[in-house]
Amino acid sequence: MLKTLKSLSQLIYPPFCLICKEPGTNICLLCSKQWQQPIKRRRIDNIPYYFSQYYDDKNAHLILAAKESGNLEARNLLAISIHRALIRLVTDLNISGEIGLVGIPSRAEITRHRGRRHIQDLIENVIQIHANSQISSKIALQNLDILQTVKKIKDQTGLDKGLRITNMSGAYLANYPESNLRKLIIIDDLITSGASIKAGITALSIINLRPIAVITACAVSAHLE
Ligand SMILES: [Zn+2]
Repeated sequence: MLKTLKSLSQLIYPPFCLICKEPGTNICLLCSKQWQQPIKRRRIDNIPYYFSQYYDDKNAHLILAAKESGNLEARNLLAISIHRALIRLVTDLNISGEIGLVGIPSRAEITRHRGRRHIQDLIENVIQIHANSQISSKIALQNLDILQTVKKIKDQTGLDKGLRITNMSGAYLANYPESNLRKLIIIDDLITSGASIKAGITALSIINLRPIAVITACAVSAHLE
């Protein structure tokens, strides 16, 4: 019965690739190969920054499917890429022990509208993937949900880099209860101008913390250092 229903629904709504929109599967072979390419490394505010993909129209589909529609397959692909970046940075920086993942919060209205906290869900997904990975005995991950939005932030669409930095300046405060955890990594799905990430770094610096790295799934190439 279930099988019949599934094939019936596929007849009405044939699956198409979440990324390139080709019909056939939810994520086609070409797109999934594209997402397995080597992790890229840059710096932001002189902190090592790792990401998987350059942001383009296709990857925008994937990010939107995860963020706006709550598509689990899309979110899982973002989480896998963030975890691959984590493995690369653990090797590069030769670190072990406990690491805190600090998510960059979305604007309050957006979170209310979606009814879920996308980056928090993404981080929990990364932690799940990590639990089954080979480096789980060397690295323990903790979701440090410590950044709070303390300022009304405007939608950044259409703002240039300078205006985005003004818009995000003082946007977050870090609420960090007593903890010895000092190895922190800032996590987001996408870096555009870098203004949100920089506001996150500033919020941590106010309480004398500096992240060891930043990881996102995608990056807009024009703004990279
Ligand atoms: Zn595709």
